[in-house]
Amino acid sequence: MKADVVVMGAGYAGLAAAEAVQAQGRSVVVVEARDRVGGRTRTDVMDDGLWLDIGGQWVGPGQDRLYDLARRMGREVWPSHTKGKSVLHFGGKRSEYEGLIPKTLPPLALLNLAWGFKRLEWMARRVPVEAPWEARRAATLDQRTMGDWLRRNLPHPKARAMMQVAIEAVFAMHPDEISLLHGLFYLHSGEGLENLTNSAGGAQQDRVAGGMQGLAEAWTERLVEGGVELMLEAPVRVVEQDEVGVVVHTDKGVVRGEYGICTLPPATTLDVEFRPGMPERRRAWCEGMRPGQVIKCFAVYERPFWRVRGLSGEAVGDQGPVHVSFDGTPPEIEEGVLVGFFEGRAATRWADETVERRQEAVVAAFARFFGDQALTPVRYVDHVWPQEEWSKGCYAGVAGPGVVTTVGKSAREPFGRVRWAGTETAIRWSGYIEGAIRSGTRAAEEIADV
Ligand SMILES: Cc1cc2nc3c(=O)[nH]c(=O)nc-3n(C[C@H](O)[C@H](O)[C@H](O)COP(=O)(O)OP(=O)(O)OC[C@H]3O[C@@H](n4cnc5c(N)ncnc54)[C@H](O)[C@@H]3O)c2cc1C
Repeated sequence: MKADVVVMGAGYAGLAAAEAVQAQGRSVVVVEARDRVGGRTRTDVMDDGLWLDIGGQWVGPGQDRLYDLARRMGREVWPSHTKGKSVLHFGGKRSEYEGLIPKTLPPLALLNLAWGFKRLEWMARRVPVEAPWEARRAATLDQRTMGDWLRRNLPHPKARAMMQVAIEAVFAMHPDEISLLHGLFYLHSGEGLENLTNSAGGAQQDRVAGGMQGLAEAWTERLVEGGVELMLEAPVRVVEQDEVGVVVHTDKGVVRGEYGICTLPPATTLDVEFRPGMPERRRAWCEGMRPGQVIKCFAVYERPFWRVRGLSGEAVGDQGPVHVSFDGTPPEIEEGVLVGFFEGRAATRWADETVERRQEAVVAAFARFFGDQALTPVRYVDHVWPQEEWSKGCYAGVAGPGVVTTVGKSAREPFGRVRWAGTETAIRWSGYIEGAIRSGTRAAEEIADV
């Protein structure tokens, strides 16, 4: 098979790249390992029609490409349910609060936490998102971890524990494993910690009707109608290139093109054999971008019983293994859905447990937040993302200490006739669907005039 451009991966980055290449009047083949499009977004439809976004689900202000895509595909966007109070369960005590920061924390913890939020926002704004390695004192920031920063700046144990919950919710990784420079870049890229942890007015504000995989499928249909060719169940194994083109070897055959756009997550890019070999610094970057670890969990109840009690379904707790919850109920159903996450080390620890044991732990956490009614869901579903062969984790790759300043630049550096995309390469909204879309468009622009 032959095309002007071969796009590797049919997640949002790959689809955005395909669309932009097609708009240049060039032919495109998209090769995808899975038997579906959407990558780290996935929507499972239950036998009774209930759909659950097992992967990426939210969209919020500033994510213009994603809102625009939903509009173009005729998909309704609706707000997450956030009406009512949130719950804090800390040190064995339960309280209810309004707003982002729980005012029910002891005053000193509250002061320390509010200061910590502001300080991180301030530091993040000083890291240039296009080139974080050029930040002032980049090398020092890159040698430290977010965990070091927490210990130095949040002496109050409750403030530190709360901030750790917030960081793990955003990165799906323990703060001790995240380079402080990368963390600050990521926060700036997503318009700040407050924005990333907020629902109304923040990154968890809205949902797309029918789910995020449905949106990717509708987009794919449109692209295929326009002439894009899609090969599913075609894992890329080898990418050869010379001065005139690329040859992409997949399990379904060989595709030749003038250019290749690789949108694979860093962790699965490492399994592809490049001939000639991928530049050493790019390989080191892929190795250094370790995928976050998440098990996403859903407990479905006959009714959203927490709403009757004036609760939003949002909760934060220090006990674990599930530290946060959200109301994930689609508007068209009578049942209520609570969503929770095992993140970072908790996800690693619980990945090999039985689903029954995980369910027990999740509903126990929900019961601490919302009362004993949470113990008896009509349905429980979860998904262990680190065990997905073609993702190896999520939400995204996260840089450990030293990665950004030594090899960070190589993330987007062209490699002969191969261009790099994928949410980890994004400047804005890195780690998010929006970042994936922007990265795909950017990679296609890089070959627009050649
Ligand atoms: C549980 C979870 C919750 C999330 N929540 C949100 C959220 O609420 N909002 C948000 O914006 N983002 C969220 N994210 C992150 C978001 O889903 C990702 O940032 C985004 O989907 C990444 O898109 P991508 O195209 O860069 O990568 P991917 O979606 O990973 O696409 C890469 C594609 O390449 C394919 N591939 C991999 N290896 C090969 C190979 N060797 N050959 C061929 N194909 C290959 C994969 O199958 C995949 O389809 C979440 C992710 C998860 C998993």
